[in-house]
Amino acid sequence: MPKVLGVGTAVVLGLGLGVPPAFAGPAAEPDPVPGLVAGRDTAAPQLVTGLSEPAVGADPAGAALAHLAAHPDRYRVDPAQLAELGTERASDGRRTVRFEQRYGGVPVLGGQYLVHLTGDGAGQRVESVGGKYFTGLSAPTAATVPDAVLRELALTSVDDPGARAGATAEDRGLVILPGDTGRLARHFTVRGAGPDAAGRPAREVYVDATAGVIALAHDARSPYPAGGAAARAESTPGTPATSPEAATGTAPDVLGRSAKVNIVRLPDGSYQLVDVTRSASLTTYDAAARDEFDFNGGIPAGVLPPVSPTPDFPAGTGTSGATDAHLNAGAVYDFYRDRLGREGLDGKGGAITSVVNLTSGGKPMVNAYWDGSKMLYGAASDKRHPFSVALDVAGHEMTHGVIGNTANLVYLGQSGAMNEALADYFGNAIEVTTRGTAMNDPRAALLGESLCLTGTPEDCADRRMDDHRTTVDDYLGVSPSLDSGGVHLNSTIFSGALWDIRRTLDPLTADRLVYRALAEYLTPVDDFVDGRNAVLAAGRALGLSRAQLRTVANAFDAHGIRAGWQQRIGLDSRVLLRDASTVSIAPAAAKGRWVAATAEKGGKGFLSVFTGAVTGGGTPTRISPADGRSHGWPATDGTSAAWASMGADAQGSWGMEVFARPLNGGELRSVHRGANQYISEVQVSGGTVAFRVNDFGSGRTWIQLHRDGAPAVELPVADDHDVTALSVKDGLLGWSEDWTTGETRSSAATVYSVAEGKVVARYPAAGGASVSSTVLAGGRVLWVETPADRTGRSSIRSGAPDGSGVTELLPGDSTYAKLRPTITASDRAVTFGYRDGDRPAGGWSNAALSKIWQIPITGGTPQRVSCNRGGQYLPAADQGTRVVWLDGSAGRTDLVVRDRPAGSC
Ligand SMILES: [Zn+2]
Repeated sequence: MPKVLGVGTAVVLGLGLGVPPAFAGPAAEPDPVPGLVAGRDTAAPQLVTGLSEPAVGADPAGAALAHLAAHPDRYRVDPAQLAELGTERASDGRRTVRFEQRYGGVPVLGGQYLVHLTGDGAGQRVESVGGKYFTGLSAPTAATVPDAVLRELALTSVDDPGARAGATAEDRGLVILPGDTGRLARHFTVRGAGPDAAGRPAREVYVDATAGVIALAHDARSPYPAGGAAARAESTPGTPATSPEAATGTAPDVLGRSAKVNIVRLPDGSYQLVDVTRSASLTTYDAAARDEFDFNGGIPAGVLPPVSPTPDFPAGTGTSGATDAHLNAGAVYDFYRDRLGREGLDGKGGAITSVVNLTSGGKPMVNAYWDGSKMLYGAASDKRHPFSVALDVAGHEMTHGVIGNTANLVYLGQSGAMNEALADYFGNAIEVTTRGTAMNDPRAALLGESLCLTGTPEDCADRRMDDHRTTVDDYLGVSPSLDSGGVHLNSTIFSGALWDIRRTLDPLTADRLVYRALAEYLTPVDDFVDGRNAVLAAGRALGLSRAQLRTVANAFDAHGIRAGWQQRIGLDSRVLLRDASTVSIAPAAAKGRWVAATAEKGGKGFLSVFTGAVTGGGTPTRISPADGRSHGWPATDGTSAAWASMGADAQGSWGMEVFARPLNGGELRSVHRGANQYISEVQVSGGTVAFRVNDFGSGRTWIQLHRDGAPAVELPVADDHDVTALSVKDGLLGWSEDWTTGETRSSAATVYSVAEGKVVARYPAAGGASVSSTVLAGGRVLWVETPADRTGRSSIRSGAPDGSGVTELLPGDSTYAKLRPTITASDRAVTFGYRDGDRPAGGWSNAALSKIWQIPITGGTPQRVSCNRGGQYLPAADQGTRVVWLDGSAGRTDLVVRDRPAGSC
């Protein structure tokens, strides 16, 4: 299997998923009950309500499809692309048929369309229809990059080398990622292995199957406090193979108080902690301090529920957290059944499994999560009770199971934050209802407040739904590499609105309203405004009064959840390329021109290279050919662009090709074709094109150099050397080089003269430090030097291209040089992204996210390039002090520039 090198995923940006500003939907003073909400980026409406049309057919799915087919102009959906996922039956007899969109047979991520039916028999009627159906898809439906390469690329998402060595990538099949024309990807669930993986969640990784680049990656499970997807329910592990007989007994809870428990009597006369009194059996396993990763595939052999010779269970059943998990699972089940008419997590009474007493890397697991099929709870530590003790936490995790079986909100960005918000809402609703806590109790809105052994509940709580956060003031513009795009960081904006509704309407009505929105209206890639519309539509279906609907709308207004909120965030930048769906591919700029790779607009869903003027004006122009291959990794010297393409050539064999083309649209030139090669680090300067080649056949790596009219030159890279950060300028080639001799690691910035055909300067790092991000600019070579122990900070240095004299532009003890920044430079300035690696003590804020900083090329104090409030990534120097970068401030990722020079904010 080829080993793909040099594909980092440190920054994964831009999703093209449900984050554009809403230009449809309710106007500034909305009617709280919209009858029709137009879709965004699709001709299919998001929501059509107020219908009462006969639906013919005994089978709800058949009747729903016939209705859609009978109104092609109203819905713009192709019934042949719809596959039934399931039918939800509400206690009032109403049916919701949920369809999944399949384009060319391939499921579309987040493509779901729902039809709501009322009445029976001849009286059956369609009441409303809505969801997300993407009408603009034209992406390919067959992969062109070999599966083995896609798998290797997926594994690169494990950034810790130790955890990557034994990592696995479970193939979940092809999927179309929506946005523009769509993008074909292969979906893997990637798990790290070994001690380095402890505490790191699995990742859902989508690798573009025609471009060979990670298109989307997010955490694969739904941990309670931090990190973490509501996976669709897998097969439930099931109860032990016994013939149980229902019984009752007692078991001590975590504090040693005796509690009555439902148990079973086994054929041998002993008793086990399994509750079979409901439609679903509830089983609680004691992991006995085994590692959480042992439970990835299910319940390991030998792990059983607590057993007792008598119906009265011993003390250990309490201290492990098993008794509390068992009681809480029952309380959650009863809430959903008695209050909302739902039988269990899957709505069908499927078995429910809890595992308590888990460790992670040899210590108590400080977490709880739903892993797609079961609840996993951390063991007691010196600071906390076992996580199963808190009913709101158990309710939160089990609600992730309900969400996975209903709206299945994608665990990323705004849809992920709604997933968390709904889990928090129901977790707390279950706790306050079961415990009889009043809604105006100051602690009612706290989450996980009862877990700490010491301190106040307020200090202990992980989140609180009464924190009054709003979109416009508080939305954190993070990249998906942090908290899956802010799923916990932004959740209380939405849950706060839901909790306000629960306080102002009566709690029972609010619970039914929010549940109906979840089960019958929300779809996987909805954003906050879609969520508002879903709750209002559910309210109308429930028959809420106009005044009640106004109360609901006011709650969302109070949290800034209304159409167009993104436009009300002040931005200190100008958009060059909106909603750049490119991931982990840096833009480039020079002489007032930019180049960037993004999914082709109006093309066939392949990655394309676009260019435009940094000074603005005009529409971005595609300069890569529309040839059914993906084109990315662009470079420019301001006159020409060079880039690499990936895909099958005319003969049908897969490989890569390097192209160059003048930015003014002159002739396209093929620089190099590489069958069975991985090509990266493409650079261009004045007719010289350089790039790195990993040849799968020979296992060799080299730097390849092309000059106009001259034969290609190969600069071999020794077996144990690694070369990164190529830079070409004024007849020189620069790079960062690492190598190992015995136990000694060495690293150097290297300069090669094209005319002389040899290395002319080498700046080795001292003391095992490593060199990265080598750049040629301003007649100098610049690089970043990072201490070997990684505890110190990186410095930015420069030297003359003849090997003389080293200047420190930014010292290692500077506040600004974080570990190993990537620099970009013009003749006048050096620019880099900076944030402290660690989470700030007070929690994440927009201020703490990565920002772009700049120093003069001779060194000096860093200045902010832009005062935008959100995350800023992958800067590319243009000329002078001008820089373009990818910016997440507006709740989506844009390529932007700022017209004024750097200055303080
Ligand atoms: Zn969660």
